[in-house]
Amino acid sequence: MVYKNACGPSRCITMQIVSRWYKTPVVLHAMNPLLPSSCWRCNSDTGSYVHIWWTCPLIVPFWNEVEKISQKVCVGSLKITPLLLFLNIIPDSPTKFNITLWKHMVLTAKSMIPLYWKQMVPLSHWLNKLNQVGRLEMMSVLIHRAMIKYNKQWETWWSFASKPETSQLFMV
Ligand SMILES: [Zn+2]
Repeated sequence: MVYKNACGPSRCITMQIVSRWYKTPVVLHAMNPLLPSSCWRCNSDTGSYVHIWWTCPLIVPFWNEVEKISQKVCVGSLKITPLLLFLNIIPDSPTKFNITLWKHMVLTAKSMIPLYWKQMVPLSHWLNKLNQVGRLEMMSVLIHRAMIKYNKQWETWWSFASKPETSQLFMV
């Protein structure tokens, strides 16, 4: 499998992740031994960087849902991996896979982790945030007169978001 580095707006959060901008229980414990080093979500394992972002049993279901929904919306099978999460290394996508929309979906999911740093991430908040991202992208393409390209990239998202059977996922 050939990997390539992603660039653009995802670079900022990736740099924050790589530079360990976000302080985990392990780091805080090293700074102040009075603070526990255990995960503040599950309280059952050491709160390391990988645990907090990826392997905590209370964050794993979120990533599973993100992967499931993003594969459904982008029509293809592309795994969310630690390489992608921590280093923004994106695997080659299948032919006709909507990689641009997939990047928006995964990047938005990544950005939800620090927002809910000590809690579980509500799936509905990710989905509603994606609606906001989609609207902002739409405003941007209206300015740049690139509506055809936008429709091609976001069509399956708005189709997914408008289905009656998925509407309950957006409820808080
Ligand atoms: Zn945990």
